[in-house]
Amino acid sequence: MTNHKPSIPFLDLYKINGRYHEKLKKRFSDFLDSGTYVRGGFVTKFEHAYAQFCGTKYCVGVGNGLDALTLILRGYIELGKINTGDEVLVAANTFIATILSIKYSGLKPVLVEPDIKEFNLDVHLIEHYITNKTKVILPTHLYGQLAQMKEINKIAKKNNLLVISDAAQAHGAKSDSGISAGNLGDAASFSFYPAKNLGAFGDAGAVTTNDGALAAIVRSLGNYGSSKKYENNYLGVNSRLDELQASFLLEKLKDLEQDNQLRRQIAKKYLLEIKNKKIQLPFWDGSENHVFHLFVIRVANRLEFCDYLEKSGIGYLIHYPIPPHNQNALKQFSDLSLPITERIHEEVVSIPLNIGLENHQVEQIIMILNQY
Ligand SMILES: *Cc1c(COP(=O)(O)O)cnc(C)c1O
Repeated sequence: MTNHKPSIPFLDLYKINGRYHEKLKKRFSDFLDSGTYVRGGFVTKFEHAYAQFCGTKYCVGVGNGLDALTLILRGYIELGKINTGDEVLVAANTFIATILSIKYSGLKPVLVEPDIKEFNLDVHLIEHYITNKTKVILPTHLYGQLAQMKEINKIAKKNNLLVISDAAQAHGAKSDSGISAGNLGDAASFSFYPAKNLGAFGDAGAVTTNDGALAAIVRSLGNYGSSKKYENNYLGVNSRLDELQASFLLEKLKDLEQDNQLRRQIAKKYLLEIKNKKIQLPFWDGSENHVFHLFVIRVANRLEFCDYLEKSGIGYLIHYPIPPHNQNALKQFSDLSLPITERIHEEVVSIPLNIGLENHQVEQIIMILNQY
């Protein structure tokens, strides 16, 4: 079979960003005129706006989502709250960046099985993994759905652990009591990679927290370990939010709440109208705890199903095909048996869900899935 371009692409970023083209050209021109290209006014403005969006006291812009997590962990080490070699509990089915950040900080990732219904940390298992070396629970809000934060925070409090969220897929997801993803633990990391719900036009990331000492140290670590020019207190890195990306993000942040709502509407329609015993739909309680970064279904025979999607012109992706513990880069985990994680990686398929989808495309996707 020849490979046709799908008639409904998984994600068309050019189309999604089309509504901003004129405004971004103006922003580029203002940026050019500003004469300050790194750590200028746009980064500060975005940090204020994003902290306000998340309901946190602080937001620190950084280079990307991986650095956001790594700098939080390194920050807590510098603050003496955790030590090199301490254990961090993390979902075994997360994107590899979560695990890399733990390793890069000199900490030890402990892979915890997820709940197959919600794809997030199984809170019933967490306490089995806690040892006297455990210092952090690091939940990912995978696919845009909040992990069970009430339960996780309770366990953390009882065991004196820090809670750090990988919120790279969950910008704007809110708990039952209306608390935003950036404000549901000690600190949270965000990625503004172009495909995320709040996507830049290049790499970008941020840390949110109410902890002023952590915010200051993350800012310093991301700027060569320096708070005062040419005075270096820590072995820092260069990971700063780009001035131009910050300006672009300020423009797109205005629409994020509305975009998330639109994603939920499409998800609701899929959940109501996709009716096929061979397709396991994702669980959602219908609240604002999900921002549907991805709409992930499960099928028993994925090869056959993906072949069908290809023939039907529906774009799809797999998040993710290989679990972290089976990656060549993480061979030290290759002996682990994680049956839930492995099953998820064998069965998941992400179908198109984004704000560029037209109504008739949503209808067509539903029809094609129902005919499978
Ligand atoms: C995208 C993503 C990251 C990494 O973000 P980058 O900006 O690409 O470094 C980390 N964790 C999760 C869950 C992600 O989806």
